[in-house]
Amino acid sequence: MSHHITLIPGDGIGPEVAAAAVQVLAATRVSIEWDRVELNADLIRRTGESIPAAVVASLERTRVGLKGPVTTPVGGGFSSVNVALRKRFDLFANIRPVRLLPGLRTRFSDVAIDMVIFRENTEDLYSGLEHEVVTDVVTTLKVITRTASIRIARSAFEHASSAGRRKVSAIHKANIMKLADGLFLRCAREVAAGYPQIEYNELIVDNASMQLVVRPDQFDVLLLPNLYGDIISDLAAGLVGGLGVVPGANIGENCAIFEAVHGSAPDIAGQGLANPTAMLLSSVMMLRHIGETAAAERLQGAVERVYSEARGLTRDVGGSSGTREFAEAVIGLLA
Ligand code: NAD
Repeated sequence: MSHHITLIPGDGIGPEVAAAAVQVLAATRVSIEWDRVELNADLIRRTGESIPAAVVASLERTRVGLKGPVTTPVGGGFSSVNVALRKRFDLFANIRPVRLLPGLRTRFSDVAIDMVIFRENTEDLYSGLEHEVVTDVVTTLKVITRTASIRIARSAFEHASSAGRRKVSAIHKANIMKLADGLFLRCAREVAAGYPQIEYNELIVDNASMQLVVRPDQFDVLLLPNLYGDIISDLAAGLVGGLGVVPGANIGENCAIFEAVHGSAPDIAGQGLANPTAMLLSSVMMLRHIGETAAAERLQGAVERVYSEARGLTRDVGGSSGTREFAEAVIGLLA
C-alpha cells in the first residue's frame, strides 16, 4: 500500500534538502506517493494568500506532510506561513529530539546529550495580536490558555512515560509573567501529578539557558511555551552540531507535518551546501508516524553510520561534501 504524503519543499535551502529526503526515502523502498505543493515567500507575495488553497487541500487529504522551511520577512511584510499552517491544522505539539550523533565532533562531544523538546505550537506571543496604540507605542498580546497548556504537558508526559524517559523540566518566566506563565506552570503541575514515576522540575528560562550550556546532560524532556521553545530549540541545536542536524515534528489530532528546526538559510541557499541531516531525521520521525518503523530504524542507522564513519559530511559539521554527496552516502548504506 502506498502512503500519500504532502511534500512542501519551501524556499531557500528547502528544495535542496527536500530533494535529498525524497531520494533517500525512495531508497528505503517504502512506497510513497508525493503530493508536491508550492509554498514559498515569492508565491505568498504574488498571491497574497497566507496559506495557498492547494496546500490546505493537500494536507486535508493526506494528513501528513514533509516540509522544508519557508522564509518570513523580518520587521514587516507578510505573517509567518509556518505559524499559520500550525494554527490552521491545530498542530499543537512541536517535538524536537536533540541528540549527539555518533562520531560528530562538537564543543560538547564528551557530554551525553539526549533530550526532547516539547514546545507548545499554537499560541503565546505567536498569536500575532499586535497593535500600535499611538505612534511609537506598540503592544503584543501573549496568549496562554489552559486547553493548550494541558495538551502540550500531556504530550510531554505521555512521551516521557512511553519512551522510558525519567524527567520532565518545565521552562517558564512565571516570576515576571505571573498570570500567563503562571497558568502554563499550573497546568504542567496538574499533569505531572498524574505521572508520579516521572521526575518533574521547573526552571526559569534564563537559568535554563545557562544550565543547558553548562550541564546539558541533566536535561531529558523539556516542556515549554511557544517562544521559549523556539529559542531554546536553536540553543540546544548548537550543543549537538548546529541547525543542520536537528529534526522536528508538528503534531495535531488529525494532521502532522515533519520539518527541521532550521530556517531557509539564505546565506547558503542554492549552493548545494546545506546539510540534509535534519530533514532526513525529520523523515525518520515521519516514517515512525505512518507505521513504517523498520524503515525508520534503517534510515536512522544509515544516517548515524555516515556520521560515525565521517563519510560525505557537509561543511557545517566539519566535512567538505555537499547536500547531494551526503544523501548519496546515506543511500549507499540503505542499498
Ligand atoms: P536559519 O535556520 O535559516 O539559519 C541560521 C544559520 O544556520 C545560517 O548560518 C544557516 O546557514 C545555518 N543553517 C541552517 N540550516 C542549515 C543546514 N541544513 N545546513 C547547514 N547550515 C544550516 O535561520 P535564520 O537565518 O534566522 O532564518 C532565515 C529564514 O528562515 C527567516 O525568514 C526565518 O523566518 C525562516 N525560518 C523558517 C522556519 C520554518 O520554515 N519552519 C524556521 C526558522 C526560520
